[in-house]
Amino acid sequence: MSTMSNNNAVIYCRVSSLEQVDGTSLEMQERMCKEYAGREGYTVAQVFIEKGESAKTAHRTEFTKAITYSTTKKNLISAFIVYKLDRFARNQLDHTTIQGVLRKHKVRLLSVTEPIDDTPTGRLMEGVLSAFSEFDNNVRTERSSNGMKERLKQGVWVWQAPIGYKRLEKAGNLVIDENYSHYIQIAFEEFSKGTHTYRSLATLLDKKGFKTKQGKGAIPQLMEKIIKNPLYCGVVRGMGIETDGVHTPLISKELFRKCNSTGRKHLYPSKSSINPSFPLRGHVVCGYCGQKLTASFSTGRGGKKYGHYQHQKHNCPHAKSVRKQEMEEAFLKLLDEVNPTLQYENAFKAVVKNEWEKRTEHTEKHNNKVQKDISSLELQKENIYKLVENGTYSQEQFSQRMESIEQQIFEKQNCLLDVNQNVVNIDQALEHCFSLVRNTKDTWLKYENEPEKRLRFHGSIFEEKLSFLDGGFGTAKLSPIYSIYQQYLYDSSQLVSLQQVEPI
Ligand SMILES: [Zn+2]
Repeated sequence: MSTMSNNNAVIYCRVSSLEQVDGTSLEMQERMCKEYAGREGYTVAQVFIEKGESAKTAHRTEFTKAITYSTTKKNLISAFIVYKLDRFARNQLDHTTIQGVLRKHKVRLLSVTEPIDDTPTGRLMEGVLSAFSEFDNNVRTERSSNGMKERLKQGVWVWQAPIGYKRLEKAGNLVIDENYSHYIQIAFEEFSKGTHTYRSLATLLDKKGFKTKQGKGAIPQLMEKIIKNPLYCGVVRGMGIETDGVHTPLISKELFRKCNSTGRKHLYPSKSSINPSFPLRGHVVCGYCGQKLTASFSTGRGGKKYGHYQHQKHNCPHAKSVRKQEMEEAFLKLLDEVNPTLQYENAFKAVVKNEWEKRTEHTEKHNNKVQKDISSLELQKENIYKLVENGTYSQEQFSQRMESIEQQIFEKQNCLLDVNQNVVNIDQALEHCFSLVRNTKDTWLKYENEPEKRLRFHGSIFEEKLSFLDGGFGTAKLSPIYSIYQQYLYDSSQLVSLQQVEPI
């Protein structure tokens, strides 16, 4: 039985086709795997050993069992341990497929004798794929946010309906929720008198019988949210867009303005804490002591303002303030240094595209085969019903056969790979990715007035905070697409050799 820890592992052993099936090497494998599991802090839940003939044939029954066991949720397996990768898969693509299945179920594949993610090719491909899914996500986000912006421009509220409104259909326009609309009107009218706090307003609504859909009373935070929401006077505001909504207002614009007029605190919702004047604030630490640098303006002679980045505490021998301009220029220089060349771009695109297509094709083939197997099992199921009907099978035989087939179908379904990776258009994704990366510095400068995009872009270049000392930045830990470029500078053959990896 498996324990309730989430550090359970499965061990799979088999002899490679070149070795004799004499047992000694299997014992050795098992022992090494168990020792490894212990060292890495795993509890061995189950050991699967391919013995005899099955070790040499394609029908590796124990292997199928091991994969099924590992991907069955209730077994809580987090690692699949093999002695050597050739014990695991027959070729590179096999390996990728099975690893895909395991990954889908959050099970790590571990090899006792090989650091799996540490081969140059492995690292590169992992890097490519992670860089990819990241950019893919960005493309999707951008696409969906473009759609949202369009709706907003047309005056349609695209988020959850606030209290007082409801939707009759998903993604439909807001309509007035009669159960709540009068409370909203009372709240605004009372608050406009200028004698209420949010707390006293909440108490008033409570007295009038207000209850949220969850059955809770009014609270000051909810009152504040209501009073500050211009949606109630017919204004749709969000994602930098403000326009007249197509829904029916609950109150007049005049009344909204009265409630949110000057003299009252918290007139506008709090602004984002990102300060566009200091784009590097929060991203840079002192290269000597590791303190995060802050930033501020000081006024010089003639009233001119100067920006500085500096230590928060001055207990470091290198704690001197750096002029904003100096640091930001050094930063632009750094961006130029990490900027990939066109040659790299082309090599990268070719490799990724090639690998992508290979994987897609393989995934389809694999899934087709599994689907076929499932269909034939379904057919068998129907036949069993017939055999029961005409009296060939007893009730007991029927149940046994049925259970066995259901189990096989379950195992097959577990082996189906996710195909959503095929949905994305690879050329488009690569182009989008490089349109930002190709001109790192320009992209950065372009986002000057969009601090949130800048922040996201910064995150897709650097994986850690930058360190600054004596006028320059230290070596930065780069995100995959950039760090692969750094590796490529040292050894361009990596990208080329990967291109030549063919399925066996
Ligand atoms: Zn320091």
